[in-house]
Amino acid sequence: MARAGCYYRYAWPSHKPVFLLTDSIQTDHPAPQIIPRSDHNISRADISKPALKVLYRLKDAGYQAFLVGGSVRDLLLGRHPKDFDVATDAHPEEVRALFGNCRLIGRRFRLAHVRFGGEIIEVATFRGLGTEESAGADREVSAETGRLLRDNVYGSIEEDVWRRDFTANSLYYNIADFSIWDFTGGVADVRARRLRIIGDPEARFREDPVRMLRAARFAAKLGFDLDDESARLIPQLAQLIGGVPPARLFDEFLKMFQAGHALESYRELRRHGLFDHLFPATAAWLGPGTDARGRFLEAALANTDARVAEDRPVTPMFLLGAFLWGPVADRAAALAGEGMTDFQALALAAAELSREQTERIAVPRRFSIPMREMLQLQIRFDKTRGARALVFLQSPRFRAAYDLLMLRAGAGNADPGLAHWWSTLQALPPEEQRRELGLQRAGAPGRRRSGRGGRSARRAGDARGEQPLA
Ligand code: ATP
Ligand code: MG
Repeated sequence: MARAGCYYRYAWPSHKPVFLLTDSIQTDHPAPQIIPRSDHNISRADISKPALKVLYRLKDAGYQAFLVGGSVRDLLLGRHPKDFDVATDAHPEEVRALFGNCRLIGRRFRLAHVRFGGEIIEVATFRGLGTEESAGADREVSAETGRLLRDNVYGSIEEDVWRRDFTANSLYYNIADFSIWDFTGGVADVRARRLRIIGDPEARFREDPVRMLRAARFAAKLGFDLDDESARLIPQLAQLIGGVPPARLFDEFLKMFQAGHALESYRELRRHGLFDHLFPATAAWLGPGTDARGRFLEAALANTDARVAEDRPVTPMFLLGAFLWGPVADRAAALAGEGMTDFQALALAAAELSREQTERIAVPRRFSIPMREMLQLQIRFDKTRGARALVFLQSPRFRAAYDLLMLRAGAGNADPGLAHWWSTLQALPPEEQRRELGLQRAGAPGRRRSGRGGRSARRAGDARGEQPLA
Protein backbone atom coordinates (compact mmCIF):
# COMPACT_ATOMS: atom_id res chain seq x y z
CA MET A 1 0.00 0.00 0.00
CA ALA A 2 1.41 3.37 -0.96
CA ARG A 3 1.33 5.88 1.85
CA ALA A 4 3.10 8.75 0.19
CA GLY A 5 1.90 12.15 1.16
CA CYS A 6 1.11 11.66 4.83
CA TYR A 7 3.24 13.13 7.58
CA TYR A 8 5.07 10.99 9.98
CA ARG A 9 7.80 11.48 12.42
CA TYR A 10 11.37 10.55 11.83
CA ALA A 11 13.07 9.16 14.87
CA TRP A 12 16.40 7.54 14.31
CA PRO A 13 17.80 6.01 17.51
CA SER A 14 18.78 8.53 20.13
CA HIS A 15 18.19 11.48 17.86
CA LYS A 16 15.66 14.22 18.20
CA PRO A 17 12.58 13.49 16.10
CA VAL A 18 11.99 15.72 13.11
CA PHE A 19 8.85 16.11 11.03
CA LEU A 20 9.03 14.94 7.51
CA LEU A 21 6.96 14.45 4.43
CA THR A 22 6.85 10.88 3.27
CA ASP A 23 6.82 12.03 -0.36
CA SER A 24 10.57 11.92 -0.07
CA ILE A 25 10.56 8.22 0.61
CA GLN A 26 9.43 5.48 -1.64
CA THR A 27 6.75 3.53 0.17
CA ASP A 28 5.17 1.29 -2.42
CA HIS A 29 7.32 -1.64 -1.41
CA PRO A 30 9.04 -3.01 -4.48
CA ALA A 31 10.48 -6.50 -4.02
CA PRO A 32 14.16 -6.76 -3.15
CA GLN A 33 16.75 -8.20 -5.41
CA ILE A 34 17.96 -11.27 -3.53
CA ILE A 35 21.64 -11.96 -4.07
CA PRO A 36 22.45 -15.57 -3.19
CA ARG A 37 25.52 -16.57 -1.21
CA SER A 38 27.28 -17.74 -4.36
CA ASP A 39 27.12 -14.22 -5.83
CA HIS A 40 28.69 -12.18 -3.04
CA ASN A 41 31.77 -12.27 -0.86
CA ILE A 42 30.30 -11.99 2.65
CA SER A 43 31.47 -14.89 4.74
CA ARG A 44 30.35 -15.84 8.24
CA ALA A 45 34.01 -16.11 9.15
CA ASP A 46 34.17 -12.30 8.99
CA ILE A 47 31.16 -11.73 11.22
CA SER A 48 31.81 -11.51 14.95
CA LYS A 49 30.81 -14.49 17.09
CA PRO A 50 28.42 -12.44 19.23
CA ALA A 51 26.66 -11.08 16.13
CA LEU A 52 26.27 -14.60 14.74
CA LYS A 53 24.90 -15.82 18.07
CA VAL A 54 22.26 -13.09 18.09
CA LEU A 55 21.30 -13.73 14.47
CA TYR A 56 20.99 -17.48 14.94
CA ARG A 57 19.05 -17.27 18.16
CA LEU A 58 16.51 -14.92 16.58
CA LYS A 59 16.21 -17.14 13.54
CA ASP A 60 15.82 -20.30 15.63
CA ALA A 61 13.04 -18.60 17.57
CA GLY A 62 11.18 -18.08 14.30
CA TYR A 63 12.00 -14.43 13.61
CA GLN A 64 13.61 -12.78 10.64
CA ALA A 65 17.19 -11.81 11.42
CA PHE A 66 19.48 -9.71 9.25
CA LEU A 67 22.82 -8.06 9.59
CA VAL A 68 22.30 -4.50 8.41
CA GLY A 69 23.84 -1.09 7.81
CA GLY A 70 27.53 -0.31 7.80
CA SER A 71 28.61 -3.85 8.61
CA VAL A 72 27.14 -5.30 5.40
CA ARG A 73 28.61 -2.45 3.40
CA ASP A 74 32.04 -2.88 4.98
CA LEU A 75 32.05 -6.66 4.54
CA LEU A 76 31.19 -6.25 0.86
CA LEU A 77 34.16 -3.92 0.60
CA GLY A 78 36.42 -6.40 2.36
CA ARG A 79 36.81 -4.03 5.30
CA HIS A 80 36.57 -4.92 8.94
CA PRO A 81 33.28 -3.51 10.31
CA LYS A 82 33.44 -1.23 13.33
CA ASP A 83 30.37 -2.91 14.80
CA PHE A 84 27.56 -5.24 13.81
CA ASP A 85 23.95 -4.10 13.81
CA VAL A 86 21.05 -6.51 13.57
CA ALA A 87 17.53 -5.87 12.27
CA THR A 88 14.61 -8.16 12.98
CA ASP A 89 10.83 -8.42 12.96
CA ALA A 90 10.91 -9.44 16.64
CA HIS A 91 9.66 -6.66 18.89
CA PRO A 92 12.03 -5.32 21.56
CA GLU A 93 10.25 -7.20 24.36
CA GLU A 94 10.52 -10.38 22.33
CA VAL A 95 14.21 -9.80 21.76
CA ARG A 96 14.70 -9.28 25.46
CA ALA A 97 12.92 -12.53 26.24
CA LEU A 98 15.49 -14.39 24.12
CA PHE A 99 18.63 -12.97 25.71
CA GLY A 100 19.60 -12.81 29.36
CA ASN A 101 22.23 -10.19 28.71
CA CYS A 102 19.90 -7.68 27.05
CA ARG A 103 18.91 -4.11 27.85
CA LEU A 104 16.26 -2.04 26.11
CA ILE A 105 17.15 1.56 25.43
CA GLY A 106 15.22 4.47 23.96
CA ARG A 107 11.67 5.49 24.70
CA ARG A 108 9.28 5.43 21.80
CA PHE A 109 11.46 3.52 19.40
CA ARG A 110 13.22 1.00 21.56
CA LEU A 111 16.42 -0.80 20.69
CA ALA A 112 17.82 -3.90 22.30
CA HIS A 113 21.46 -3.97 23.31
CA VAL A 114 22.71 -7.51 23.72
CA ARG A 115 26.03 -7.71 25.51
CA PHE A 116 28.68 -10.39 25.09
CA GLY A 117 31.74 -9.54 27.10
CA GLY A 118 33.01 -6.25 25.72
CA GLU A 119 30.89 -6.34 22.56
CA ILE A 120 27.38 -4.94 22.28
CA ILE A 121 25.16 -6.02 19.43
CA GLU A 122 22.43 -3.51 18.69
CA VAL A 123 19.21 -5.19 17.67
CA ALA A 124 16.61 -2.94 16.07
CA THR A 125 13.10 -3.95 15.22
CA PHE A 126 12.16 -2.95 11.66
CA ARG A 127 10.80 0.55 11.67
CA GLY A 128 7.29 1.17 10.47
CA LEU A 129 5.71 4.32 9.12
CA GLY A 130 3.72 5.20 12.23
CA THR A 131 3.08 8.80 13.13
CA GLU A 132 3.68 10.31 16.52
CA GLU A 133 0.27 11.95 16.27
CA SER A 134 -1.52 8.73 15.50
CA ALA A 135 0.32 6.86 18.20
CA GLY A 136 -2.78 6.66 20.38
CA ALA A 137 -4.93 5.26 17.62
CA ASP A 138 -2.30 2.92 16.26
CA ARG A 139 -1.20 1.52 19.55
CA GLU A 140 -2.90 -1.34 21.25
CA VAL A 141 -2.18 -1.73 24.90
CA SER A 142 -3.28 -4.70 26.95
CA ALA A 143 -5.95 -3.58 29.43
CA GLU A 144 -4.70 -6.01 32.06
CA THR A 145 -0.95 -5.64 31.93
CA GLY A 146 -0.53 -2.31 30.22
CA ARG A 147 1.90 -4.01 27.91
CA LEU A 148 2.11 -2.69 24.40
CA LEU A 149 0.64 -5.21 21.99
CA ARG A 150 0.90 -3.35 18.75
CA ASP A 151 2.52 -0.10 17.77
CA ASN A 152 3.16 0.94 14.25
CA VAL A 153 6.47 2.57 15.04
CA TYR A 154 7.53 -0.96 14.21
CA GLY A 155 7.02 -2.43 10.77
CA SER A 156 8.40 -4.72 8.14
CA ILE A 157 11.70 -4.83 6.33
CA GLU A 158 9.95 -3.27 3.32
CA GLU A 159 9.16 -0.21 5.43
CA ASP A 160 12.46 -0.17 7.29
CA VAL A 161 14.65 0.06 4.20
CA TRP A 162 13.36 3.41 2.91
CA ARG A 163 14.16 5.22 6.11
CA ARG A 164 17.85 4.49 5.79
CA ASP A 165 20.18 7.16 4.49
CA PHE A 166 22.34 5.85 1.64
CA THR A 167 21.84 2.89 -0.68
CA ALA A 168 25.19 1.49 0.50
CA ASN A 169 23.79 1.48 4.04
CA SER A 170 20.49 -0.17 3.18
CA LEU A 171 21.61 -3.77 2.57
CA TYR A 172 20.39 -6.71 4.64
CA TYR A 173 22.32 -9.95 5.06
CA ASN A 174 19.88 -12.75 5.80
CA ILE A 175 21.14 -15.33 8.28
CA ALA A 176 18.50 -17.83 7.08
CA ASP A 177 20.25 -18.48 3.75
CA PHE A 178 23.25 -16.06 3.71
CA SER A 179 21.73 -14.03 0.88
CA ILE A 180 21.73 -10.23 0.63
CA TRP A 181 18.43 -8.40 0.24
CA ASP A 182 18.90 -5.30 -1.86
CA PHE A 183 15.92 -2.99 -2.34
CA THR A 184 17.79 0.09 -3.52
CA GLY A 185 20.58 -1.01 -5.83
CA GLY A 186 23.02 -0.71 -2.93
CA VAL A 187 25.22 -3.64 -3.96
CA ALA A 188 25.91 -2.10 -7.37
CA ASP A 189 26.60 1.26 -5.68
CA VAL A 190 29.02 -0.27 -3.19
CA ARG A 191 30.83 -2.05 -6.01
CA ALA A 192 31.02 1.19 -8.00
CA ARG A 193 31.96 3.10 -4.83
CA ARG A 194 29.00 5.44 -5.19
CA LEU A 195 27.33 7.20 -2.28
CA ARG A 196 23.73 7.71 -3.29
CA ILE A 197 21.08 8.99 -0.94
CA ILE A 198 17.77 7.14 -0.85
CA GLY A 199 14.79 9.18 -2.05
CA ASP A 200 14.74 12.88 -2.84
CA PRO A 201 18.08 14.34 -1.68
CA GLU A 202 16.76 17.74 -0.64
CA ALA A 203 13.93 16.28 1.41
CA ARG A 204 16.19 13.71 3.05
CA PHE A 205 18.79 16.35 3.99
CA ARG A 206 16.10 18.63 5.34
CA GLU A 207 14.54 15.84 7.41
CA ASP A 208 17.86 15.19 9.04
CA PRO A 209 20.72 17.57 8.23
CA VAL A 210 23.20 15.23 9.91
CA ARG A 211 22.94 13.13 6.76
CA MET A 212 25.06 15.82 5.07
CA LEU A 213 27.81 15.20 7.61
CA ARG A 214 27.38 11.48 7.15
CA ALA A 215 27.78 11.95 3.41
CA ALA A 216 31.07 13.77 3.98
CA ARG A 217 32.17 11.12 6.46
CA PHE A 218 31.44 8.15 4.22
CA ALA A 219 33.07 9.87 1.26
CA ALA A 220 36.15 10.40 3.45
CA LYS A 221 36.23 7.02 5.12
CA LEU A 222 35.35 4.85 2.14
CA GLY A 223 36.59 6.99 -0.73
CA PHE A 224 33.10 6.90 -2.26
CA ASP A 225 31.88 9.52 -4.74
CA LEU A 226 28.84 11.45 -3.66
CA ASP A 227 26.06 11.69 -6.22
CA ASP A 228 26.05 14.97 -8.19
CA GLU A 229 22.67 16.12 -7.00
CA SER A 230 23.67 15.78 -3.33
CA ALA A 231 27.02 17.45 -3.97
CA ARG A 232 25.18 20.37 -5.56
CA LEU A 233 22.61 20.64 -2.76
CA ILE A 234 24.76 20.29 0.34
CA PRO A 235 26.44 23.71 0.15
CA GLN A 236 22.98 25.28 -0.18
CA LEU A 237 21.56 23.38 2.78
CA ALA A 238 24.68 23.36 4.93
CA GLN A 239 23.36 26.07 7.23
CA LEU A 240 20.74 23.61 8.50
CA ILE A 241 23.55 22.09 10.55
CA GLY A 242 23.01 25.08 12.85
CA GLY A 243 19.71 23.52 13.96
CA VAL A 244 21.14 20.14 14.93
CA PRO A 245 21.35 19.51 18.68
CA PRO A 246 24.95 20.19 19.80
CA ALA A 247 25.20 16.85 21.62
CA ARG A 248 24.51 15.00 18.42
CA LEU A 249 27.16 17.06 16.63
CA PHE A 250 29.72 15.97 19.21
CA ASP A 251 28.90 12.32 18.41
CA GLU A 252 29.37 13.09 14.73
CA PHE A 253 32.60 14.93 15.46
CA LEU A 254 34.00 11.80 17.08
CA LYS A 255 33.00 9.63 14.13
CA MET A 256 34.53 12.05 11.63
CA PHE A 257 37.69 12.99 13.48
CA GLN A 258 38.73 10.21 15.82
CA ALA A 259 38.40 7.20 13.58
CA GLY A 260 41.51 7.43 11.42
CA HIS A 261 40.19 9.56 8.55
CA ALA A 262 40.21 13.01 10.14
CA LEU A 263 42.16 14.72 7.37
CA GLU A 264 39.89 13.40 4.63
CA SER A 265 36.79 14.25 6.68
CA TYR A 266 38.05 17.81 7.07
CA ARG A 267 38.68 18.11 3.34
CA GLU A 268 35.23 16.75 2.50
CA LEU A 269 33.59 19.10 4.98
CA ARG A 270 35.47 22.04 3.47
CA ARG A 271 34.68 20.95 -0.06
CA HIS A 272 30.96 20.83 0.67
CA GLY A 273 30.75 24.03 2.71
CA LEU A 274 29.96 22.18 5.93
CA PHE A 275 33.04 23.00 7.99
CA ASP A 276 31.98 26.64 8.56
CA HIS A 277 28.83 25.45 10.30
CA LEU A 278 30.71 23.21 12.70
CA PHE A 279 33.67 25.45 13.48
CA PRO A 280 32.67 29.03 12.61
CA ALA A 281 35.57 30.74 14.40
CA THR A 282 38.13 28.37 12.89
CA ALA A 283 36.64 28.81 9.42
CA ALA A 284 36.75 32.61 9.73
CA TRP A 285 40.37 32.48 10.89
CA LEU A 286 41.30 29.98 8.19
CA GLY A 287 40.02 31.87 5.17
CA PRO A 288 40.72 29.93 1.98
CA GLY A 289 42.89 27.50 3.97
CA THR A 290 45.58 27.25 1.34
CA ASP A 291 48.37 28.91 3.32
CA ALA A 292 50.27 28.27 6.55
CA ARG A 293 47.02 28.28 8.52
CA GLY A 294 45.61 25.48 6.42
CA ARG A 295 48.88 23.56 6.67
CA PHE A 296 48.81 23.90 10.44
CA LEU A 297 45.32 22.38 10.67
CA GLU A 298 46.14 19.67 8.17
CA ALA A 299 49.25 18.75 10.15
CA ALA A 300 47.13 18.43 13.31
CA LEU A 301 44.64 16.22 11.47
CA ALA A 302 47.35 14.06 9.91
CA ASN A 303 48.95 13.72 13.34
CA THR A 304 45.68 12.39 14.80
CA ASP A 305 45.26 9.95 11.91
CA ALA A 306 48.82 8.70 12.36
CA ARG A 307 48.16 8.03 16.04
CA VAL A 308 45.00 6.09 15.22
CA ALA A 309 46.88 4.11 12.57
CA GLU A 310 49.51 3.19 15.15
CA ASP A 311 46.85 2.28 17.74
CA ARG A 312 48.00 5.04 20.04
CA PRO A 313 45.35 6.77 22.15
CA VAL A 314 43.67 9.91 20.81
CA THR A 315 41.63 12.45 22.70
CA PRO A 316 39.12 14.77 21.07
CA MET A 317 40.42 17.66 23.13
CA PHE A 318 43.66 17.81 21.17
CA LEU A 319 42.15 18.31 17.74
CA LEU A 320 39.47 20.63 19.10
CA GLY A 321 42.24 22.66 20.71
CA ALA A 322 44.24 22.73 17.49
CA PHE A 323 41.13 23.98 15.65
CA LEU A 324 40.71 26.77 18.17
CA TRP A 325 44.36 27.78 18.56
CA GLY A 326 44.41 30.26 15.66
CA PRO A 327 41.26 32.14 16.69
CA VAL A 328 42.36 32.07 20.35
CA ALA A 329 45.78 33.53 19.54
CA ASP A 330 44.19 36.28 17.42
CA ARG A 331 41.69 37.20 20.09
CA ALA A 332 44.36 37.13 22.79
CA ALA A 333 46.47 39.54 20.72
CA ALA A 334 43.48 41.87 20.39
CA LEU A 335 42.78 41.73 24.13
CA ALA A 336 46.43 42.36 24.95
CA GLY A 337 46.27 45.36 22.62
CA GLU A 338 43.50 46.71 24.84
CA GLY A 339 45.75 46.60 27.86
CA MET A 340 45.47 43.13 29.36
CA THR A 341 48.59 41.20 30.26
CA ASP A 342 49.48 38.48 27.77
CA PHE A 343 48.67 35.89 30.38
CA GLN A 344 45.21 37.28 31.14
CA ALA A 345 44.48 37.84 27.46
CA LEU A 346 45.27 34.26 26.51
CA ALA A 347 43.25 32.87 29.40
CA LEU A 348 40.23 34.97 28.51
CA ALA A 349 40.46 34.25 24.78
CA ALA A 350 40.72 30.52 25.43
CA ALA A 351 37.73 30.63 27.76
CA GLU A 352 35.60 32.67 25.33
CA LEU A 353 36.32 30.63 22.22
CA SER A 354 35.89 27.39 24.09
CA ARG A 355 32.46 28.57 25.26
CA GLU A 356 31.44 29.76 21.80
CA GLN A 357 32.51 26.49 20.22
CA THR A 358 30.74 24.31 22.77
CA GLU A 359 27.50 26.14 22.02
CA ARG A 360 27.74 24.62 18.55
CA ILE A 361 29.29 21.24 19.39
CA ALA A 362 28.57 20.06 22.92
CA VAL A 363 32.04 19.03 23.96
CA PRO A 364 31.76 17.40 27.40
CA ARG A 365 33.56 19.25 30.16
CA ARG A 366 36.02 16.42 30.65
CA PHE A 367 37.40 17.39 27.24
CA SER A 368 36.69 21.13 27.07
CA ILE A 369 38.46 21.88 30.36
CA PRO A 370 41.80 20.24 29.46
CA MET A 371 41.46 21.72 25.97
CA ARG A 372 41.24 25.23 27.39
CA GLU A 373 44.18 24.53 29.65
CA MET A 374 46.24 23.24 26.75
CA LEU A 375 45.60 26.52 24.91
CA GLN A 376 46.30 28.70 27.94
CA LEU A 377 49.50 26.84 28.72
CA GLN A 378 51.13 27.81 25.43
CA ILE A 379 52.41 30.97 27.06
CA ARG A 380 54.25 28.95 29.69
CA PHE A 381 56.73 27.69 27.11
CA ASP A 382 58.24 31.16 26.95
CA LYS A 383 59.52 30.82 30.50
CA THR A 384 62.52 28.56 30.42
CA ARG A 385 63.96 29.23 33.86
CA GLY A 386 62.78 28.84 37.41
CA ALA A 387 60.63 26.66 39.57
CA ARG A 388 57.45 27.45 37.64
CA ALA A 389 58.95 26.01 34.47
CA LEU A 390 59.78 22.82 36.37
CA VAL A 391 56.27 22.60 37.79
CA PHE A 392 54.92 23.02 34.25
CA LEU A 393 57.24 20.35 32.89
CA GLN A 394 56.06 17.92 35.54
CA SER A 395 52.35 18.72 35.28
CA PRO A 396 49.97 16.19 33.73
CA ARG A 397 48.93 18.79 31.14
CA PHE A 398 52.44 19.33 29.86
CA ARG A 399 52.44 16.63 27.22
CA ALA A 400 49.37 17.78 25.29
CA ALA A 401 50.49 21.41 25.47
CA TYR A 402 53.90 20.35 24.20
CA ASP A 403 52.38 18.39 21.29
CA LEU A 404 50.50 21.54 20.28
CA LEU A 405 53.72 23.58 20.58
CA MET A 406 55.44 21.13 18.22
CA LEU A 407 52.65 21.52 15.68
CA ARG A 408 52.86 25.28 15.97
CA ALA A 409 56.62 25.21 15.51
CA GLY A 410 56.25 22.98 12.46
CA ALA A 411 53.87 25.52 10.94
CA GLY A 412 56.12 28.50 11.70
CA ASN A 413 53.82 29.69 14.48
CA ALA A 414 56.28 29.08 17.32
CA ASP A 415 60.01 29.43 17.57
CA PRO A 416 61.57 26.12 16.45
CA GLY A 417 64.57 26.73 18.73
CA LEU A 418 62.24 26.99 21.71
CA ALA A 419 60.37 23.84 20.70
CA HIS A 420 63.66 22.02 20.32
CA TRP A 421 64.82 23.21 23.72
CA TRP A 422 61.72 21.78 25.39
CA SER A 423 62.15 18.53 23.48
CA THR A 424 65.72 18.20 24.69
CA LEU A 425 64.79 19.13 28.23
CA GLN A 426 62.29 16.30 28.53
CA ALA A 427 64.90 13.73 27.60
CA LEU A 428 67.32 14.85 30.34
CA PRO A 429 67.60 13.14 33.73
CA PRO A 430 65.89 15.14 36.53
CA GLU A 431 69.09 16.58 37.95
CA GLU A 432 70.12 17.96 34.58
CA GLN A 433 66.65 19.32 33.98
CA ARG A 434 66.98 21.33 37.19
CA ARG A 435 70.33 22.63 36.10
CA GLU A 436 69.00 23.57 32.69
CA LEU A 437 66.16 25.47 34.34
CA GLY A 438 68.63 27.36 36.52
CA LEU A 439 67.53 25.58 39.67
CA GLN A 440 71.01 24.43 40.64
CA ARG A 441 71.54 24.70 44.42
CA ALA A 442 74.48 26.78 45.59
CA GLY A 443 77.55 24.64 46.13
CA ALA A 444 76.45 21.98 43.72
CA PRO A 445 78.69 21.10 40.78
CA GLY A 446 79.16 23.93 38.32
CA ARG A 447 76.36 25.28 36.21
CA ARG A 448 76.39 24.06 32.72
CA ARG A 449 75.01 26.34 30.14
CA SER A 450 73.86 24.09 27.40
CA GLY A 451 75.02 24.46 23.85
CA ARG A 452 72.62 23.54 21.14
CA GLY A 453 69.06 23.41 22.35
CA GLY A 454 69.88 25.40 25.47
CA ARG A 455 69.18 28.98 26.31
CA SER A 456 71.59 30.24 23.73
CA ALA A 457 69.77 28.32 21.04
CA ARG A 458 66.53 29.70 22.35
CA ARG A 459 67.80 33.26 22.21
CA ALA A 460 68.81 32.72 18.63
CA GLY A 461 65.24 31.58 18.03
CA ASP A 462 63.93 34.68 19.76
CA ALA A 463 65.97 36.81 17.43
CA ARG A 464 64.43 35.05 14.44
CA GLY A 465 61.10 35.85 15.97
CA GLU A 466 57.88 33.88 15.87
CA GLN A 467 55.84 34.09 12.76
CA PRO A 468 52.12 34.50 13.14
CA LEU A 469 50.20 31.90 11.12
CA ALA A 470 49.78 34.36 8.31
P1 ATP B 1 29.74 3.13 10.65
O1 ATP B 1 30.69 2.33 9.88
O2 ATP B 1 30.24 4.49 10.95
O3 ATP B 1 29.16 2.44 11.87
P2 ATP B 1 27.05 2.89 9.69
O4 ATP B 1 26.51 3.03 8.32
O5 ATP B 1 26.92 1.59 10.37
O6 ATP B 1 28.53 3.38 9.64
P3 ATP B 1 25.62 3.92 11.92
O7 ATP B 1 25.59 5.33 12.44
O8 ATP B 1 26.19 2.85 12.75
O9 ATP B 1 26.36 4.02 10.54
O10 ATP B 1 24.12 3.57 11.53
C1 ATP B 1 23.73 2.26 11.14
C2 ATP B 1 22.73 2.35 10.02
O11 ATP B 1 21.59 3.08 10.42
C3 ATP B 1 23.22 3.05 8.76
O12 ATP B 1 23.94 2.20 7.93
C4 ATP B 1 21.93 3.53 8.14
O13 ATP B 1 21.29 2.50 7.45
C5 ATP B 1 21.08 3.87 9.34
N1 ATP B 1 21.20 5.30 9.75
C6 ATP B 1 22.01 5.82 10.70
N2 ATP B 1 21.83 7.13 10.81
C7 ATP B 1 20.89 7.47 9.93
C8 ATP B 1 20.25 8.69 9.57
N3 ATP B 1 20.59 9.85 10.15
N4 ATP B 1 19.30 8.66 8.59
C9 ATP B 1 18.95 7.50 8.02
N5 ATP B 1 19.52 6.34 8.31
C10 ATP B 1 20.47 6.29 9.24
MG1 MG C 1 27.47 1.07 12.39
